[in-house]
Amino acid sequence: MPHLTIDCHGHFTTEPEELHRFRAAQLEYVRGESETRPHLDAISDETLRAIIEANQLRIQRERGSDVTLLSPRASGMGHHAPDQSIATEWAQISNDSIRRIVDAFPRNFAGVCQLPQVVDGSLEPVIEELERCVEAGFVGCNVNPDPSGGGWSGPSITDPWWDPLWSALARLDVPAMLHVSASTNPVVHTTGAHYIAADVVVFMQLVQGDLFQRHPDLRVIIPHGGGAAPYHWGRYRGLATMLGKGTLAEHLLENTFFDTCVYHQSGIDALFAAVPVENILFGSELLGAVRGIDPESRHEYDDTKRYVDALGLDDASRHAVFEGNARRVYPRLDRRLNDLNARRPSLMETTR
Ligand SMILES: [Zn+2]
Repeated sequence: MPHLTIDCHGHFTTEPEELHRFRAAQLEYVRGESETRPHLDAISDETLRAIIEANQLRIQRERGSDVTLLSPRASGMGHHAPDQSIATEWAQISNDSIRRIVDAFPRNFAGVCQLPQVVDGSLEPVIEELERCVEAGFVGCNVNPDPSGGGWSGPSITDPWWDPLWSALARLDVPAMLHVSASTNPVVHTTGAHYIAADVVVFMQLVQGDLFQRHPDLRVIIPHGGGAAPYHWGRYRGLATMLGKGTLAEHLLENTFFDTCVYHQSGIDALFAAVPVENILFGSELLGAVRGIDPESRHEYDDTKRYVDALGLDDASRHAVFEGNARRVYPRLDRRLNDLNARRPSLMETTR
């Protein structure tokens, strides 16, 4: 069965120097080390195009993927920096870069936005930015379940405090990837420890809570293959029963999804052994956390398509993991792809 290969987890981690300089100046301003609120020098379309062509687009072609859901660098979201107006400006600028990339390569990318969360902040500006991005064509968003960057100072994602955001997502028909930003503690490594730990923390919050009983239309994606959750599936099945939540399938799996950002074959094997195939979306984190060639496999660690291909899934399951599940979880992506297909069908017909 021919299918598209949709990568649900990609980041713009190859930003031009101007953007890094601007963010550094913003943080100096927030820390009171500078009096002047910084201003971003315009970044040209040519600069953005050249960066994407040399990186994300080249790798898409090399690895045989068709569409990447692209969001700003996750570790750069920096929700722990205390200033709502700076956070809002940073989210807008970061999201506008994504929108320009998507506009330049509409068949290769769809936008996923960053939200201007801050510690102890209000959800109002967060929902406002979400609405602005969805209006601009974004198909998903990254929600940080711990804006403090490792302190877990806020309420659980199942706490009613979050309800306005979950209602907005359901109303807009947009799923959330639950994705933390940088660790603020030097003994907790951002991508090696904080990310994976956060994935487990939010999964357990979902097990303990009743989020989807209150928000049956909400869909969330837990990145990095669900952290360690699939590996410890028996623990969570048991805890769900002990807590009177029934089976994980009844309690969570209508609404909770996992990507395939797991960088070795036996990890992918464990993910697919534990989690139903309807709940797994292909993802690679392009260009992500771990770069380089694995001396054991002689391929890049984050070339996750190889591991999924090696599972020998039947046609229907392959279609689900590479295309169908993403279209179901991201209905705005589905509509976007259908619209593009209606305009120029030949380019969307792949046989991979
Ligand atoms: Zn990520």
